[in-house]
Amino acid sequence: MKASLKKKLEKEYQKNCPDCGVEVGEEHLTCCDVERCSVCGGQLLSCDEHQDAHNSAETKWDGYWPGIKKCYEKGWFSRMVPGKGWVPCDGEHPEATADLNRLAYFQVYGKDGIYKEK
Ligand SMILES: [Zn+2]
Ligand SMILES: [Zn+2]
Repeated sequence: MKASLKKKLEKEYQKNCPDCGVEVGEEHLTCCDVERCSVCGGQLLSCDEHQDAHNSAETKWDGYWPGIKKCYEKGWFSRMVPGKGWVPCDGEHPEATADLNRLAYFQVYGKDGIYKEK
């Protein structure tokens, strides 16, 4: 990862989960809406399928919003462009944010697809 991106990622670090407030290394509290399902990677609260299979030890708060680090590793960023919506962009763009939608698609379908030309 580029040094400039590493710096940017460091700024995303949060000692406590922004929703349930647990510290790094702790399991999220029940009903935390940041916690992801350990099976499908979707939001745990809205996942009906894996409530029993979910392993909360695997999804402890690690200081970063779930998926953000993966987006940085992959270089997946997007920014809002008026009239166009979210478009992929370089991570060094000042308005770039980690493209979590792209990552979610990748996790569900096993391929990168949402930005394919039609
Ligand atoms: Zn939490
Ligand atoms: Zn799930």
